[in-house]
Amino acid sequence: MLTETDTVPTDPETVDSAQREAIDSVPKGLFIGGTWRDTAGALPVTDPATGRLLCEVADATPEDGLDALTAATAAQAEWARTPARERSDILMRAHRLLLTDVERLALVMTLEMGKPLAEARGEVAYAAEFLRWFAEEAVRLDGGYMPSPTGGSRFLVTRQPVGPSLLITPWNFPMAMGARKIGPALAAGCTCVVKPAEQTPLSMLALAAVLHGAGVPAGVVNVVTTADPGAVMTPLILDERSRKLSFTGSTAVGKHLLELCARTVMRTSMELGGNAPFLVFDDADLDAAVDGAMAAKMRNIGQACTAANRILVQRGVAEEFARKLTARMAALPMGPGTEPGAVVGPLIDADAVAKVTELVADARARGATALLGGDPVDGPGNFYPATVLADVPDEAALCHTEIFGPVAALAAFDTEAEAVARANDTPYGLVAYVYTENLRRGLRVCEALETGMVGLNQGVVSNPAAPFGGVKESGLGREGGLTGIDEFLETKYIGVQL
Ligand code: NAP
Repeated sequence: MLTETDTVPTDPETVDSAQREAIDSVPKGLFIGGTWRDTAGALPVTDPATGRLLCEVADATPEDGLDALTAATAAQAEWARTPARERSDILMRAHRLLLTDVERLALVMTLEMGKPLAEARGEVAYAAEFLRWFAEEAVRLDGGYMPSPTGGSRFLVTRQPVGPSLLITPWNFPMAMGARKIGPALAAGCTCVVKPAEQTPLSMLALAAVLHGAGVPAGVVNVVTTADPGAVMTPLILDERSRKLSFTGSTAVGKHLLELCARTVMRTSMELGGNAPFLVFDDADLDAAVDGAMAAKMRNIGQACTAANRILVQRGVAEEFARKLTARMAALPMGPGTEPGAVVGPLIDADAVAKVTELVADARARGATALLGGDPVDGPGNFYPATVLADVPDEAALCHTEIFGPVAALAAFDTEAEAVARANDTPYGLVAYVYTENLRRGLRVCEALETGMVGLNQGVVSNPAAPFGGVKESGLGREGGLTGIDEFLETKYIGVQL
């Protein structure tokens, strides 16, 4: 196990046999129309902990992408006609298959993405839970029948699958973000073309193989991996056969894709970036608040859209909170995610380390104090140490940008009104966290926060059974929960004259 002062592993060639076996077990081709397709080009997949090449996967051309859409379109009518109970049973089988294969899938995820194995296991289970949740929802689609208020006719309201859907996912939760889209799409009766992030294609290819094994018919789920997402996905977005884009990723790319979707008035779901405020009031259970901050900050090594980006603590308890949080952060072992017990794994790439380094330097130059860490480590791998900054001024760049790293940025506030105003002072609105023992204050602040989600005395909000999503520039629509399947359904009204 590495500590902050140790160096990271220096032998990038070391690949143990279990790791090799896990990587080899994943198909590397494009998954189109139920078969795996090789391509002339290859997309390298590297281990962010060492920089070593893990393998290469297929690199789709725009023609491959269109073939995938053709396969999804061809399978659409039959899949929509497939009884909901059958679609549900297939999703439930996939749920069980994922759970029986957690170790292999988690190892693949850790190797390509860097998160600690324990978190990767958690993500596989989280992905599986989306499949189960939507298997349960598939058989509960409802409709309506009511008399027209003016008499005579009747309103028959039914819901139908929106049609072939494009699903684009990020690298930070490489399996769960896919399952969160594929689950409801399939449950609703939609076929899909999935494009995973180029840095983490293996988890999605492994999920496709599991879905295939569970009995998903050919063409219902297609996966294209590519080094040129714009060239491959733009023609699909502009193709009138595509009826829906569900995207999870950065706000900048989301805005670009929304502009493209406007051309065909395509339905969209957008799960975009965040800038979560974490508010600790002086009446909070401080130990619970520290626990919550650790979870909200350190899940996925800080690389989550839900990560606590700005930790605002009421002045009377700010010092004590900082001391307790710093002690907890200092105790986190740093090392490759495959090392037992490692918590601070590598960031996704060298650019991510450079960005965090720059944000921390900017905050310090503007007056923030490093209570822990604050300087990059040498060596191969994209490691950045657990860092705590105190007295971070609002004008620091990291208050306005997703840090996406293990950096806790603390600042003090005096009044509730000030805390809410500062929390809302961002174009993002995904999630906020509030710690207080005062119920009235808790609910008042939750209502005043301009976010799609709030964790009230809890540091993790993600749950397949809850509606996940943001307001403002954090996105459109909700994934999971009772409304998650609606994103893949159209409402049809039939006027009936009796
Ligand atoms: P990203 O750069 O926006 O990429 C997301 C996906 O879009 C990737 O598959 C990417 O492919 C693809 N893409 C990029 N340009 C494209 C284009 N022109 N046309 C079609 N697809 C394109 O985001 P990221 O860096 O992977 O992920 C981190 C971001 O995701 C953060 O902002 C985080 O907050 C956000 N996120 C949000 C949620 C949420 O639920 N709100 C959840 C997780 C992450 P390549 O990989 O090939 O570039």
